[in-house]
Amino acid sequence: MARVEMLTVGKELLIGRTMNSNAHWVGKRLAKTGSMLKEITTVDDDLKEIGEALKGILARSPEFLVVVGGLGPTPDDMTLRGVAGALGKRLKKNGEALAMIREHYAAAGLADIELTPARLKMATLPSGARPLKNDDGTAPGVRLAAGKTVVFCLPGVPAEMRSIYRKSVEPEVRGRLGRMHRRYVTMKLEGVPESTLAPVLARELRKHPAAYIKSHPRGVKGGVSKMELDIAVVDADRTVADREGDAVAEEMRSKVIELGGKVGPTRCSTT
Ligand code: ATP
Ligand code: MG
Repeated sequence: MARVEMLTVGKELLIGRTMNSNAHWVGKRLAKTGSMLKEITTVDDDLKEIGEALKGILARSPEFLVVVGGLGPTPDDMTLRGVAGALGKRLKKNGEALAMIREHYAAAGLADIELTPARLKMATLPSGARPLKNDDGTAPGVRLAAGKTVVFCLPGVPAEMRSIYRKSVEPEVRGRLGRMHRRYVTMKLEGVPESTLAPVLARELRKHPAAYIKSHPRGVKGGVSKMELDIAVVDADRTVADREGDAVAEEMRSKVIELGGKVGPTRCSTT
């Protein structure tokens, strides 16, 4: 499986002002298509921190790196400077990015807006980078190659990040990873403490090493343990993913009942 990493930039993520919903969204999106985000790094809006984090990630040679945040016009937006510095590239005015920004302002009825240094900053990209159209905001995304890693830099605003990801990042990642399918089953359990289920889970995982089985404790109410159990099986063949996922779910269901527990509502999906 190709390695995909994420670098999220912004003090607000570190001080509890903003939830890292962008990392959550990308992780979920990749998992749905049978892939996985391998590592998430979060750093402050600081050139040295951005550069060092980037070098550390690139040393692991992931196939893809998604960098999010800090592409805008404000002084704390310094991601592209950090990326260029770490890669030994110069920052250059990019004609295509400038055209995208002009087009964005024109569509917003601001065709005559002055291109101040702050606005021009959003068209200043590391040399060799390609801008990615932003249909929901001003700052274009950026794609560049760094050794064997394809680096995508996306704006932090979640709606903008998502739209560029869907349009420009996902097709390339999927093209490289191939189409995988995931059977995903979530069941609500009660009456079986997690510690009782633990050895059953261990046996099931030995029997189905490719499966993902995870219990989520949901507290004890009225002396009854509540839990959610997630089961996922990924395969290139959709019918294999379905069959294996459902077999694991069925085995877990009968074990829980054997242990005197109850199985409540169950949700299944294949993506
Ligand atoms: P802009 O052009 O709007 O300035 P930007 O790329 O510079 O975009 P930031 O300035 O870093 O992005 O963040 C813009 C907004 O998006 C802020 O409100 C920030 O809190 C939010 N944001 C940034 N990163 C994330 C993240 N990882 N998850 C959720 N929200 C985020
Ligand atoms: Mg900003």
